[in-house]
Parts: sequence; C-alpha cells; structure tokens
Amino acid sequence: MAEERSAEMSQNFIHDFIDEELAPGGRCEGMRVHTRFPPEPNGYLHIGHAKAIFVDFGTAEKYGGLCNLRMDDTNPTKEDEEFVDAIQEDIHWLGYDWGDRFFYASDYFEQMYDFAVELIKKGLAYVCQLTPEEFKEYRGDVNTPARSPWRDRPIEESLDLFARMRAGEFPNGAYTLRAKIDLASGNFNMRDPVIYRINHMRHHNTGDKWCIYPMYDFAHPIEDALEGITHSLCTLEFEDHRPLYDWVVDHITLPYHKPRQIEFARLGINYTVMSKRKLRNLVESGVVSGWDDPRMPTICGLRRRGYTPAAIRAFSERNGVSKAASTVEYAFLEHCLREDLNEHAQRVMAVLRPVKLVITNYPAGQTEEFEVENLPGKPEAGARKVTFSRELWVEAEDFLPEPVPKYKRLYPGGPECRLKGAYLIRCVGYKTDDQGNVVEIAAEYDPDSRGGDPADGRKVKGATLHWVDAATALDAEVRLYDNLFSDPDPDAGDKDYLACLNPNSLEVLSGAKVEAGLSDPQPSDRFQFMRQGYFCADSRDSRPGHLVFNRAVSLKDSFKV
Ligand code: ATP
Ligand code: MG
Repeated sequence: MAEERSAEMSQNFIHDFIDEELAPGGRCEGMRVHTRFPPEPNGYLHIGHAKAIFVDFGTAEKYGGLCNLRMDDTNPTKEDEEFVDAIQEDIHWLGYDWGDRFFYASDYFEQMYDFAVELIKKGLAYVCQLTPEEFKEYRGDVNTPARSPWRDRPIEESLDLFARMRAGEFPNGAYTLRAKIDLASGNFNMRDPVIYRINHMRHHNTGDKWCIYPMYDFAHPIEDALEGITHSLCTLEFEDHRPLYDWVVDHITLPYHKPRQIEFARLGINYTVMSKRKLRNLVESGVVSGWDDPRMPTICGLRRRGYTPAAIRAFSERNGVSKAASTVEYAFLEHCLREDLNEHAQRVMAVLRPVKLVITNYPAGQTEEFEVENLPGKPEAGARKVTFSRELWVEAEDFLPEPVPKYKRLYPGGPECRLKGAYLIRCVGYKTDDQGNVVEIAAEYDPDSRGGDPADGRKVKGATLHWVDAATALDAEVRLYDNLFSDPDPDAGDKDYLACLNPNSLEVLSGAKVEAGLSDPQPSDRFQFMRQGYFCADSRDSRPGHLVFNRAVSLKDSFKV
C-alpha cells in the first residue's frame, strides 16, 4: 500500500508542468517559482482551501520559491476584517508561512485604475452605458456576436467618463468600463467584458475612497503581475477565464514577467458541503454552534474536533493534484487522521458509559499504582502512574446479565477477562436497581496476575477491558460526532442540503469517567481512549473541573485502501 500511495504522491501535473518551464529554454528558466494563495475574506477556510493552500504553498516549498498570502478583497459587498485574522491563524496552524508577503488586493486599486486608463488610451477599453437589460439583450449567442453600441466611443470621452465615474458623479449601474476584445468570440468572457463597475459602498480596507471597483477577471491578473507571481494556481472554474487573464497581462505594461494561470480540480468530500455560502447558512440558521463546530469541514472546526495539521496535509497530498474533478470519501480524511494519531496520540483509559465494578476479594482501602507507557513500545513518549483499587468503572456494554453467542466479556460464570495492564478477573454477580438496570458488577480477581498475565501461563479466554479507578476518576462530558449530513452528496447542484441533515450527528455523554491524569488537558493534546477512539479536549468548553472531550475519530476504519 505504501508504494501505491507514494506513486500517487507524484501525481501532480502542476509540478510536471513547472519542471518543463524551469528547464533550459523554458518560460521560467533561471526564475524563482512564486505562487500566491488568494482567499476572499468573506468566511472561514475549509478543507477545500486546505487543498489550495497545499497546492500554492506546497509548490513554492518544493521549488524553494515563495508564496504570498493575499486577501482577495476587491469586492466590497461581503468582506469582513473578522475573517482576515482567522484565515492567517488557520494557515499558520496548517504549518505554512508567508513571511512578510501579506497583501491586500485592495491596496492595488490605484494601480488597477492606472492600468485601466492605459487600456483606454490604447483604445482597448471604453465606457459603456447599456442598462443591465440591454446588456443581456445585446449579448448574442453561440451563433450571433454581441452588440456593443458604445465600443467606438472616442478615447477622450471614455477617459473623461471614467474619471467622473471614479469621482462619484454617477449612480450604481449608470456606466461600466469594458475591455474591447472580441464581440464574436466563442468564449463569452471575451465579448468585451466589464472590467469596472460603479458601486457606492464602503470597503473594509479602503473605506469610502472608491466608488468604482474592478472585476475579478481584470483585478486578479494585475494582482499577480504586481507581486511577481510566476504561477497563478486556481481551481477549474477559472479555466474559461484564462484567455481574459492572458489578454490583460498581454496588454498592460508589467513591472515583471507575465504570470501564468494553471487550473486544478476542486476538492469535494462526500457527506458535507463546501461552499462558504452554505457553511455560513448552517451557522446562521443555528444548525451548528458556529464556524468552529466540530462537525464543520472548516479548518477551525476540524482543529476543534481533534484533527492535526499533519493529517490534513497528508490528506491533501495523497489526493493528488489533477484536472479531473472528483469527490473524495470523508472516510479517507478520517483514515489520514487515524494514521497520524495512531503514531502520536497518548494512550489513556476513559469509560464513556460507566458502570461500577467491585472486586469482592480485593482488600477494601487498599490501593496500588501501575506504571503505564504513554505510547506502548515507545519509552521516549514517557510513562505515567495509574491507580487501582477495589472499585472501578468499566464500560456498561462490557457486561451482560445473560451472554449472547460469542460474547467474551463479563457475565456471571463467564470467561476470565483482563483488566488492561492490571489483573485478571471473573464476573461473579451483579446488582440492579428497581427498574432492573444493572448498577454494579461483582468480580473476583487473581492476585497472582499483576500486570494482566496469569502466573501459570493459562490461556485467558475473555476480552481485555479498559477501566478507571473509581477512587481517583474524573468526571467528563464526551461528545461523539457523526456526519453532519445523512445524504452522501448534499452539495449536489440545487439539492436542498438543509433537508439532508443527519439528526444524530452529535451525541453527548455527560457521565463519562476518565483517568486522574487527564485533569488539565490542552486542546492541542491528542489521546487515544482505549477501544473508543481518538479524543481531544474541547477548546471552547473544557476546563479543569469541567472536562469536555471531543471524539475526533473512532478506531474503526471504514476506508478501503
Ligand atoms: P467557496 O466557493 O467555498 O466560497 P471560493 O473559491 O469562493 O470558495 P476563495 O476564498 O475565493 O473561496 O478561495 C481561495 C482559493 O481557494 C481559491 O484559489 C480557490 O480556488 C481555492 N478553493 C476554494 N475552494 C476550494 C476547493 N474546494 N478545492 C480546492 N481549492 C479551493
Ligand atoms: Mg471566490
């Protein structure tokens, strides 16, 4: 399997492409690879962005180049400063750094304006005054070219109108600036696209300075060009826009070389939605507790859930980079997390649904300690002491009054079971409350089995059970998560994703018992609760005296490699 995966790791057509460009005679011979990650600060980053971050920063890293972080904030309507900090935090957490190359696209508004003027002066852009209705009507179709009655407006007149657009003389929609390209182009993006529009709206960075804003297709290539970007890596929906990207960089006076756009497939994952609009909706409608709800595919949600940067990076890397759109299994993301945590998470014992176990032949008042390795087989990860006494908590499901076939755990007269790392016990009875619920299990232990192995080498037929010493156990709340959606493809087309929610995506267990050593876990600590899965303390709600653990992922791997 390792080999299969490493073959996949080289599946990155962008790198093949860059290799060619860097080779002697190539477009980038002797140049330093320079990429950028350009999020729009209108929401939190999600796992799809993690892929783009991996592609942008990872490519720069591979070639010893640079990657800029650029807030793509040319659209004033939906951006917010709140998101800028969150985006930076998430990228740092993923393990990438932009050094001092942090930019706002809006800082280039003045230069963009100058480039627009340059185009007008060259006869390559003109001010148009079609109404939106006329615009639509004149658009043409595959067989009919568009019409644009203002395209031959004299240059002087366009320059004057454009200056007055900027000065705020006109209301929204009265005029636009259009690039003069090709009204008959089969690519509608080239049919004299609008490159500036009037929008009297405050901008989070430039305030009220501007009332005209550049369109993405005009702004983005300029941003790239001004920053000396060599490779502008973006997702496939921009493929049809590349001719316009190239047109812009071909017709303005660039300070550096021309950047080149390369498109790759977006990441989709089943059982979740990925667009910021839909994620925002989940937050605003109260379906989840916030952008960082542990069920969200956001970076902050995954972090709170217990995901590690290494797992997310491995996931991004192993999915490869291609032009073929595909939906990746959520189970693969979980698989990557399990692999990382299996290596690194401290093993501890926690009982999620506890029932009391009394060892009737263990002396009352006696207590002893076992030294347990934090990571079995890795002494360098340290060890800790775990106490043991006559009363323990065990998992309710590890006991049945009447066994079912093949049940190898506790029941009266059942097989000898091993209390992990401690002793061998046999169940000898149980107590119930008035309703018949089991409230206590009675067992006898073999004093000669300290450490968990029989002195005479006899075969232990029962299961190995986890336990917590009742005398020292801490109370905890445990939150178990399942997919947020029960439909595998809630993101599809116009599906009503809110109707696909999984009503059982969160289960809260309020009476769990954990080892005394877990009194002050840090949110960045990761634990394997033996037999239960991987957990971390909830970064918002857990504190000493009120422990809350999130299950990041269960132990059982449903992913078929
Ligand atoms: P959304 O549709 O989720 O709102 P977006 O593309 O509008 O995403 P941006 O902030 O513009 O979000 O994205 C920044 C970068 O991340 C872009 O280059 C975009 O192509 C990339 N990106 C966004 N979603 C994905 C995804 N699912 N897979 C890969 N890259 C993505
Ligand atoms: Mg976008």
